[in-house]
Amino acid sequence: MSQIKIMDISPKTSQGAKCPVCGAPMNAHYKPFCSKHCADVDLNRWFTGNYVVHTNEQPTEEDLVASVMEQKEILNKNKGTLG
Ligand SMILES: [Zn+2]
Repeated sequence: MSQIKIMDISPKTSQGAKCPVCGAPMNAHYKPFCSKHCADVDLNRWFTGNYVVHTNEQPTEEDLVASVMEQKEILNKNKGTLG
């Protein structure tokens, strides 16, 4: 008579997981990060809108300059209407 191990399907979530910020082994206390620092870094990314989903590409310097120029243009337009 062979026994069926039902409990063998336990999910392996916390084993071998890595911090998405720095790649260090995950700390269960700061899941899914390795430390409070990395949790803060990730949270800050969401707040500042720098989090890029579905792509591995980093924003280039040109992209950053372009967005700054855009903001300046908007500011100048606002100035014009105020004056
Ligand atoms: Zn980390």
